[in-house]
Amino acid sequence: MPEEYEDPCIFCDIVAGRREAHKIHEDNLTICILDINPLSKGHCLVIPKRHVPWWHELTDEENASLFMVAGIVARKMMHSLHPDFVCMYARGRRIPHTHIFLVPTCSGDVLDRFFNALELFQESTQKLADLRAEESMQDAAELIRSAGTE
Ligand SMILES: [Zn+2]
Repeated sequence: MPEEYEDPCIFCDIVAGRREAHKIHEDNLTICILDINPLSKGHCLVIPKRHVPWWHELTDEENASLFMVAGIVARKMMHSLHPDFVCMYARGRRIPHTHIFLVPTCSGDVLDRFFNALELFQESTQKLADLRAEESMQDAAELIRSAGTE
């Protein structure tokens, strides 16, 4: 077993060619593969080749590459699968290697129902409703604007 294999990660294995994946596109910093548990046909993951747990820890160059590849693949999805649009999000709690979800979505599908449910939740919970108050919005904006990036 090579030394760099001490901390196995499924995405590092795919990048290194130690594990099979349905590769869709790649450049020197980023790879895009089909998700093995798709939420819809063509659901992809866009992954930096370097092991970085959270997307906001990527370098500017890695971010540029990640979003360039995401855009290319999303346009390919629109031409080949004809969804309403391609939903993009990043969570990453399950696998600690940045991955962006690209999910072709149509009205009424699993993801559409999920986000519709989330919107209902946002509208119905008092705690979240309080976040919409002008004072709370100004506080959040000021906190983020005044923070550093390192
Ligand atoms: Zn990794």
